[in-house]
This record gives sequence, structure tokens and C-alpha cells, in this order.
Amino acid sequence: MPKRNLRIVKRVRNVPVLGVCEYCNAQFSGDPDMGNAQSAIQEQFNAHKCKRLDASQNAVRIVRESIEDH
Ligand SMILES: [Zn+2]
Repeated sequence: MPKRNLRIVKRVRNVPVLGVCEYCNAQFSGDPDMGNAQSAIQEQFNAHKCKRLDASQNAVRIVRESIEDH
């Protein structure tokens, strides 16, 4: 298994609502009104399979897509 870390990138009222896998940049979202957003994000993270993409190239692609969206 690749070494991977979950990073919380967005919080609402101190509740994590968006996390990303630092290895493959997969995103996991939780609903802050559900009360268990953090564990929901953690469960999605634990269940996902990392795609074998170069992490730096993937990050560049995501940045470009977000720029084009706005
Ligand atoms: Zn991953």
C-alpha cells in the first residue's frame, strides 16, 4: 500500500467538511450538519484506492481546472 495521509482542507464551524488524500489528491466531503463529518471523511479516505498519478502533475491539473471554473 502507498503511504498516504488525509489532509483537511476546509472546515465549517470547526467541523472538517473537505479532506484530500495527500498521495493522489482524491477529495472527500462531509456534511457539517450530520455531526459526524470527520468520521465520514475518514471512512471515505480509508475506503478509497489511490490512483497512480504523479502527485505534482495532478496538483497542477486541479489548480488549472479551478482557475478555468472561475
Ligand atoms: Zn489516495
